[in-house]
Amino acid sequence: MGLRPNLLTRRAAGVASTTFALLLSTAAVGVVPAASAYSAAPGNASCAEPADVHSDARVRGGSKAAHNRHDPNQLTATQVQEREADFAAALRNSMLRSKSSIRTGSTEGRTVALAPISVPVVVHVIQKDSTRAGGNIPDSMINSQITVLNQAYSGATGGAATGFTFQLQKINRVTNASWYPIVQGSSAERSMKTSLRTGGKNTLNVYLGELSDDLLGWATFPKRTLDVMDGVVVLGESLPNGTATNYNKGDTGTHEVGHWLNLYHTFQGGCSGSGDSVSDTPAEASPAFECPTGRDTCTASGKDPITNFMDYTYDSCMYQFTAGQASRMVNAWNAYRASA
Ligand SMILES: [Zn+2]
Repeated sequence: MGLRPNLLTRRAAGVASTTFALLLSTAAVGVVPAASAYSAAPGNASCAEPADVHSDARVRGGSKAAHNRHDPNQLTATQVQEREADFAAALRNSMLRSKSSIRTGSTEGRTVALAPISVPVVVHVIQKDSTRAGGNIPDSMINSQITVLNQAYSGATGGAATGFTFQLQKINRVTNASWYPIVQGSSAERSMKTSLRTGGKNTLNVYLGELSDDLLGWATFPKRTLDVMDGVVVLGESLPNGTATNYNKGDTGTHEVGHWLNLYHTFQGGCSGSGDSVSDTPAEASPAFECPTGRDTCTASGKDPITNFMDYTYDSCMYQFTAGQASRMVNAWNAYRASA
């Protein structure tokens, strides 16, 4: 693949409104987490395992049918409502802990300053044997993935700077054929994560390998208490220079980490309601695939945000987060992940 085709059309992401209700610093870092009664399964009867209710899947391929088949955990309106209520409560708690002066009412606050938030990353490479086909991807691809994350979240590829940086702590290579491929929602996935997950809520655990059902990856949304399932699972060959055609520039990793930091898809909720709970991402009726021109699926203003990392387009098509998404991630960090 050549250069990203949208390089010439990039625009700086502006702050879309003046309705930000929160003024938030990163002062909550390091404080003790409040006890939480938050439970894992907000009313989803179709999921076998509660942990999967908070997960999300990105799928290879270009059809909505494929998306629906492989992404059973796309959140319902009720699930979003429950998550947003929990987010608001968790954010209030974090502000009280940090004794900041706050006004509540929105979880899309404005950050006063994008002080760097350093995220420790542990990468688990799941292999069935020592061959490349068996999952043995080189360290160079993992290092490139970390670079892609740092570029995406710094705004270097376009869009808003988020304040997040990613530091690779360790590459943990594990040969275990019973965990390969990694099957979403399986007892093997739980057993793998139970054995391997390390660090506190602030530690990004990345699991790489072949995945079930043509999936590119999935992620857990943040919770108030540390969950052993917490982390992102990414197709190893989606890393930069991997073999997953059209999805091998590392933006599956970027997308899944977005969920891990509490972002929804840009098409969450379709054209109605609060959509993805971010004000500066135009509403979108459904996922966009490949790299469509001029797509505009909702009557509300703004064309579909097909270049946003939280859509489903090709890696070459997506290159930005918005200022609203950046604020939401920083607030989510303070609410959920900053305290051990
Ligand atoms: Zn997703």
